[in-house]
Amino acid sequence: MSTPAPECPICGKPATPADRPFCSRRCRDRDLITWLDEGYRVPVAPEEEPSGN
Ligand SMILES: [Zn+2]
Repeated sequence: MSTPAPECPICGKPATPADRPFCSRRCRDRDLITWLDEGYRVPVAPEEEPSGN
């Protein structure tokens, strides 16, 4: 049984050995950026409470 070539999670193209599991460096960077973007998106809790008094 031959293992099927993994598909690039970004664009769905067959991944290349050099950039597995992505098809190209571009997709790899893109994934990284997406990951970082999500990581940076820290849930900002509203610190200031509405002092409705
Ligand atoms: Zn790709």
